Amino acid sequence: MRYKGMIIRPPSEAESYLIQATYGCSHSKCSFCGTYPDKKFGVRDSSEVLEDIAEAGMAYPGARRAFICDGNALILPTGKLVSYLDALAAAFPSLQRVGIYANARDILKKGPEELRTLREKKLGIIYLGLESGLDEILADVRKGETSENMISAVRMAEDSGIKTSIIILLGLGGRARSREHALESARAASRMNPRFLSCLTLMLVPGTELHERSLRGEFELPEPREMLVELETIVENLDLDGTIFRANHASNYLPLEGRFPQDKKRLLAEIKSGIQGERRLKPEFLRGL
Ligand code: SF4
Repeated sequence: MRYKGMIIRPPSEAESYLIQATYGCSHSKCSFCGTYPDKKFGVRDSSEVLEDIAEAGMAYPGARRAFICDGNALILPTGKLVSYLDALAAAFPSLQRVGIYANARDILKKGPEELRTLREKKLGIIYLGLESGLDEILADVRKGETSENMISAVRMAEDSGIKTSIIILLGLGGRARSREHALESARAASRMNPRFLSCLTLMLVPGTELHERSLRGEFELPEPREMLVELETIVENLDLDGTIFRANHASNYLPLEGRFPQDKKRLLAEIKSGIQGERRLKPEFLRGL
């Protein structure tokens, strides 16, 4: 099993076997992202991927989950992904679910039929960064997507039987657009109605364009309590059914988890207690990406 560069996976894939099928991210333009600084996007040689899967099957025959890395591996042709999913199923007899990162363009390009084929081959979850529901922010940070496209892509994946896990990035509108960012992100996420929704908190990574902009005074990161007010606005305006909501990533100031719609009131009460100082917020030195 060979890996190139730093390997990133969602926290919920901690127990999964990680197979690297692409290197880096096919987009690589988001101004806040320092995820793959060391890697130019590339597609890994299929024979190497298949060799690694076979080897992993001998080392971890009981694995139940696998995750296909790196960023946006759904860009690969469906036939190639099917061959990897078949190899994973053959290597791991107890395999239940395979996960992958994707952007909206590639989900939409696959279309319902190819998505259903991938679902039948155990592709069970797609992780997608909405980041913000406000198109002006998406354009500013060079996400390369519109909220409308991302909403359509998530609905298409969910309707094809593939669960989605969506990320909103608190603070991405800066102080200036905090409320609009929260309202539009809640609106977009509600229309998506994903299986999982997470709010992470923006951390400015040295070397990224957004960090440079903040040093020049062109972008102002909200204070911790302002981040919580943003989170409160999002949760207040979410209209979800059957979604598992999390804000318990290492970057968050206040760990939260619940289900919609039943836990909405409790989540709002917990956020309120954080805003009012009744609950201690995570100190900066304990935050991470
Ligand atoms: S945020 Fe995601 S899509 Fe954007 S550059 Fe980073 S890995 Fe790629």
